[in-house]
Amino acid sequence: MRKQTRPEEPEVLRSHQEKWNRQWRELRERNPSAKFAWYETGGKSAREWILQDLRGMNQGHCSFCDGYPVETVTSEPVEHFRPKSNPKFHDLAFAWDNLFYCCNACQSHKGEQWEDHLIKPDEPCYEFDRYFRFLDGRIEPVSGCDETVRLRAEATIRIFGLNERNLPRHRKLEFEKVVEDHGSGSG
Ligand SMILES: [Zn+2]
Repeated sequence: MRKQTRPEEPEVLRSHQEKWNRQWRELRERNPSAKFAWYETGGKSAREWILQDLRGMNQGHCSFCDGYPVETVTSEPVEHFRPKSNPKFHDLAFAWDNLFYCCNACQSHKGEQWEDHLIKPDEPCYEFDRYFRFLDGRIEPVSGCDETVRLRAEATIRIFGLNERNLPRHRKLEFEKVVEDHGSGSG
């Protein structure tokens, strides 16, 4: 999970999010199982308006597992960091700060789960090495860290499934490839 820097809030959200968040909240209050949809303006959905900026935040990689390319068969998923289904967060459904470019696998693994401990890849003090280390392809909490750091790292690994679905194996192969490329380049 690489550190990300969020670009300025897109104009479409600046001008519409208050109305759209309220629409979503009122819809869910009337019908708690109502399905989410990206509202539209100017012939495009909010999702289409913001996708390019979101994608750029991690150079087209998934914000959480760093997978690339992100599946584009159906659609490129946009993840609500604080779940839009949770009444506490209805007003963040269209909040720029709450949205991430994310692969299908991470998105479905997380589902509607939420923990206050989760690490947000664009939070100002986040650095991979502050929280995590690689161990044989797995991502583990950094050793010798304090309790809060450990809890946050563990929650993030668990909720996004960062050591599942072949991810450790892929990381190992990538790592070996880098070492090999480096070796052949210098030899
Ligand atoms: Zn992912």
